[in-house]
Amino acid sequence: PGPLTERGPAKIIAMCNQKGGVGKTTSAINLGAALAEYGRRVLLVDFDPQGALSVGLGVNPMELDLTVYNLLMERGMAPDEVLLKTAVAGMDLLPSNIDLSAAEVQLVSEVARESTLQRALQPLLGDYDFVIIDCQPSLGLLTVNALTAAHKVIVPLECEFFALRGVALLTETIEKVQERLNPELRLDGILATMYDSRTVHSREVLARVVEAFDDNVYHTVIGRTVRFPETTVAGEPITTYASNSVGAAAYRQLAREVLARCHAE
Ligand code: ADP
Ligand code: MG
Repeated sequence: PGPLTERGPAKIIAMCNQKGGVGKTTSAINLGAALAEYGRRVLLVDFDPQGALSVGLGVNPMELDLTVYNLLMERGMAPDEVLLKTAVAGMDLLPSNIDLSAAEVQLVSEVARESTLQRALQPLLGDYDFVIIDCQPSLGLLTVNALTAAHKVIVPLECEFFALRGVALLTETIEKVQERLNPELRLDGILATMYDSRTVHSREVLARVVEAFDDNVYHTVIGRTVRFPETTVAGEPITTYASNSVGAAAYRQLAREVLARCHAE
């Protein structure tokens, strides 16, 4: 990665795919940790009521009094009251838990409901180089809020047979948000995950993804390894849990690609 010539305001990245289990949360944590290793200040936003990102960083969501829900719904709530430090230097967390599921309903009657997260994040942008929003597996109002706040979208795609199913709907949603709410929004890239080089099937799916999305596919491919589920149990990123692993190297490579795409703008 290039030298750090300037700081903030943060680039906001939404990690998005309405399919569950494709590696959104794993990618948010590990891309964030790799960017932090490269000296960037990173804020991770857990925007899934399941709280998997919080759990993956060793936080018990059920014990939290204040979460991203309070930041969204309570005017005048100071972000500092919700922010948590993580064990990774330079990486902070806005945690979430099941409370956030109420926001989906309550936001419906809000004025400018799609830009609620954008307004909530605004005071924090000067403090970070990257904000990464881990979306829930749906294209509902919470995800639309994430896309409205974001500059870029990363779409993790599992190298499995039905990976491309649903991507057209996702692309359409991104385009609608672009047209109606957030003209700055760009697809930064498609990230192939859970790749198993030993199977013809995985290779075929990857080839089809590259055929369909061309330059929009990152060169980095995330292999399938049990190391990732292990990191969830450990409550830390793979970059610290297994610093010399293939998985850690892959997310460092992804971080370099994301930085390169930022510098190319
Ligand atoms: P999502 O957030 O899209 O639902 P997750 O990141 O939570 O997906 O991943 C789903 C499950 O797959 C988790 O148990 C996670 O540990 C595991 N996982 C994620 N990436 C990989 C990978 N590259 N190889 C093997 N397992 C993975
Ligand atoms: Mg998730």
